[in-house]
Amino acid sequence: MNVMSELTTIIPICKYCGHRIRKRIPDSITQQYSNKVSPWNHEWDGKCECCGHDYSIYMGTPVLFGQKKKTSVKADSQMIGEPGDLDDYRVLSGVTIKTTIGDEVMGNGAFGEVFLTANELKGLINILKESPLLEQFDYDFSTYI
Ligand SMILES: [Zn+2]
Repeated sequence: MNVMSELTTIIPICKYCGHRIRKRIPDSITQQYSNKVSPWNHEWDGKCECCGHDYSIYMGTPVLFGQKKKTSVKADSQMIGEPGDLDDYRVLSGVTIKTTIGDEVMGNGAFGEVFLTANELKGLINILKESPLLEQFDYDFSTYI
């Protein structure tokens, strides 16, 4: 089995259209780094390439009257390695989680952003299933309505 056919078989099936969510791995990856295998989701924008479904997550939690804490989760990847050395790099795949409260444009808000690898995300989900961290009562604005 060559690298391309192996990569194509691990691309997940879209839950909305039933086709693989990527039609193929971008040529730029396989040609530029021919001795490395990039994950199927390298440079993936989080959308199914067949039906366009966006797997990104957008949430809003009411925190003050008329104001929400906004959170987004988007597919992302990061390349790490020695600068200028294309033979020694790794691609970390996962999600970027961004959260904002207030007005980012006016500068009176609070913002946070973190990249978690897929392995970190899976580990957190497994640990949190049994953790009292998820049993906390959240006193957001919806609590008082
Ligand atoms: Zn689809």
